[in-house]
Amino acid sequence: MNKQFFFLFTLSLSLMFATEKQSHAQDKPATSKKVKQIALTFDDAPMPMPKAHFFTVPERVTRFIDVLKEKNVPQVAFYALGVHAADKWQQKQLRRYGEAGHLIGNHTYHHWPASRKKPEDFLDDVVRCHNIIVDMPNFWPSFRFPELDSGGAHKAILRQRLNMMGYSMGYVTAPTLDWVYNSHLIKALKNDKTLKMHRLINMYVEHVIHCAEYFFEHTQKVAGGPMRMVMLFHENDINALSISTIIDKLRDNGWEIISPKLAYEKPFIEDENSDARLNAFFKKNVFKTPLKFLDMHHVNAEIKKVMEAPPEPIYKVIHLHGEQVSPTHTASTQ
Ligand SMILES: [Zn+2]
Repeated sequence: MNKQFFFLFTLSLSLMFATEKQSHAQDKPATSKKVKQIALTFDDAPMPMPKAHFFTVPERVTRFIDVLKEKNVPQVAFYALGVHAADKWQQKQLRRYGEAGHLIGNHTYHHWPASRKKPEDFLDDVVRCHNIIVDMPNFWPSFRFPELDSGGAHKAILRQRLNMMGYSMGYVTAPTLDWVYNSHLIKALKNDKTLKMHRLINMYVEHVIHCAEYFFEHTQKVAGGPMRMVMLFHENDINALSISTIIDKLRDNGWEIISPKLAYEKPFIEDENSDARLNAFFKKNVFKTPLKFLDMHHVNAEIKKVMEAPPEPIYKVIHLHGEQVSPTHTASTQ
């Protein structure tokens, strides 16, 4: 990874958010921490390394583990995708999350959408992933449907069979569209727009906070009361880069970060009706007529605007190891 950039990037982010932190702290309702609870979950782990990447796979795993520990996050969940953990080396990387105390759930082997497969084929695919993760430390029998497709016409039979296998539903209440931001990160890395990346990350962090707040407010209406939120991320570079700031900002906004186990302890999806209500809500607001901030095309256009805006001057460059502090204008390199 580009360590110097990384240092500059984290420095600029912490400076960026330092002033906002104070203002948020002042207008935070005293009781918010008791109500706003959120669990963080990361799908498709362990994500393979694209050609242009910020972290290698082991670096990314280390980064997640270190940040989550440093920030005292009790536990997060990584939903394993079997095809990403097919060989021993990939399994070793995935296992490290379990060894660090995080949960490892099942996200199938091939990432097939459940409604487009025969139930028996789909369930075989679940078992294939299960066999890879079942002996890992902190294996957690929680199942997350690929593409959040819970099976359409096969939903009842799939639910029943998964329950028989000991799995509970790893449903999502707050999607983030993180993969769109990640694809722009990869594009920026390819084009070597390294210094512009902090704009993208800044934009992404704001977006994640917005998603948390929006879905908290709206799923309450569906659920009939405040829910323990479950946020969907992917185990990718943009999250490895931003998770530290995301955690800080969530907490500044009154969120308590809880273990996914705790989030699912009081399950929202207790019966078919509550599940149907949540699905209908997502269908209407996210998939069919997407909200602007979850509309892929809109988000793509917004990110492009930000990435293509003229550079701002950088007034201070602090080198790694702190050996040199040089006030300088390096707009041309941005
Ligand atoms: Zn997935």
